[in-house]
Amino acid sequence: MQAEPPGEGWPREDHGGRLILPGFIDTHVHSGQLDVIGAYGSALLDWLEHHTFPAELRMAEAGHAQRTSALFLDALLATGTTTAAVFPTVHPVSVNALFEQAETRGMRLIAGKVLMDRHAPEALRDDVEGAERECRALIERWHGRGRLAYAVTPRFAPTSSDEQLAMAGRLLASAPGLYMQTHVAENPDEVRWVAELFPAARSYLDVYARHGLLGERAIFAHGIWLDDPDRAALHAAGAQIAHCPSSNLFLGSGLFDWAAAEAAGIAVSFGCDVGGGTSLSMLRTMADGYKVQAMAGRRLTAWKCLYAATLGAARALRLAHEIGSFALGTLADVAVWDWAVGPVATRRHEVARDVHDRLFAWMTLGDERNLVATYVAGQRRHARDIR
Ligand SMILES: [Zn+2]
Repeated sequence: MQAEPPGEGWPREDHGGRLILPGFIDTHVHSGQLDVIGAYGSALLDWLEHHTFPAELRMAEAGHAQRTSALFLDALLATGTTTAAVFPTVHPVSVNALFEQAETRGMRLIAGKVLMDRHAPEALRDDVEGAERECRALIERWHGRGRLAYAVTPRFAPTSSDEQLAMAGRLLASAPGLYMQTHVAENPDEVRWVAELFPAARSYLDVYARHGLLGERAIFAHGIWLDDPDRAALHAAGAQIAHCPSSNLFLGSGLFDWAAAEAAGIAVSFGCDVGGGTSLSMLRTMADGYKVQAMAGRRLTAWKCLYAATLGAARALRLAHEIGSFALGTLADVAVWDWAVGPVATRRHEVARDVHDRLFAWMTLGDERNLVATYVAGQRRHARDIR
C-alpha cells in the first residue's frame, strides 16, 4: 500500500459501477470435507460417522491432499473469500498440503492438524505423544511463515482425551501468536455426550477453559447451546464465535442466539462450515444468517453481516492491520462484485430505495456468479469468465 497514486505506466482495470469489498474472511471451514457437501440425511454425530470420517480418511494420501487443498482454496477464491481458518484432517500431510497451496496463492490462512485420540476410526486417531511431536514440527515449519499461522485444533471435546486437551493447552502456550480453533455446543446430543465424558466440567465450554484453550486467539465454531456464564467467559477471554448458519440449518443443529452473544460483548464472525454447510460462499452464509435471526424475530442488517465477514472477523483474529478493510497499511485482498446478475436481481437492483436496500438485495440474491474478480495481496487470483 502506498499513499501516492501509481504513475501512468501502471495497468488499470476499470470496475466503475461495481461493488468493491475487502476479501471475505471465513472463520470456520473444513478442507477435507468437500466430498460430503450436500450429503443427505444426518444430524451431527451420525454425520461425522457416516460422511465426514470416511471423507477425511482419504486425506492421508499426499496426492489426494494436494489436489483437494488446491481445489478447496481455488473454490474459496472463486467465492470472494481470501482468508480462512481451516480444519484439514488429523494427518500432517493434509496440513502441509493446505499450507503449501495457500502459500502458492499468497493467502492469509490459519490452520492446524486436527487432534483426535478417541471416538473416531482407528486410522483417524492419533495419540498424545505422537500428536504433540507432529504439531511441534508443523508449528516450526509453518507458523508465522509469510501469511500463514498455525492453530491448535482439537476437533471437539468428545474426540480428545483429557490428556490430549492438556497437551493442546501446553502447545498453545508454547509460541506467540498461535490460534486455537474447535467446535463447541453445536447440537444437544453432543452437549449431553460432553457432560457424560467430562463430569467435572461446569459446561462444554468449560472443558476447553480448564485446559487453557480459551484465549483471545480462540475461535469456537457454533456456540448455539451456551449459557450466560459461558458467554461471560468467552467475552472475558476475548475469544470469538464462528457462526455457521448454513451448517446449523442443514444439520438441524439449532438457531444461534446472536443477540445474547452481542449483549455479552462476544465477537461474532461467519463460517461456512463446509461440509456441514452447503456452500463455500459468504454471501449464501450471510443470507442464511439473516434467516436464522429472522426465526427469532430479529433482523440482521447487511451492515452487520458484512462487518462480521470482513473487519469484524479481522479484529477478532487480531489481524485488522492486514485484512478486513482498505485502511492504509492493509494488504490488497479485494473482491470485485457485480451488483446483480440475471433479470430478476437486475430489476431488484434498479428499484432499490437506498444503499442498504441495494446491499441487502445483493447479499440475499447474489452468489459467486456476481463475483467479477478476486485479488490476493494485489495479485488477481480469480477472474470470472465473461461471456
Ligand atoms: Zn466444523
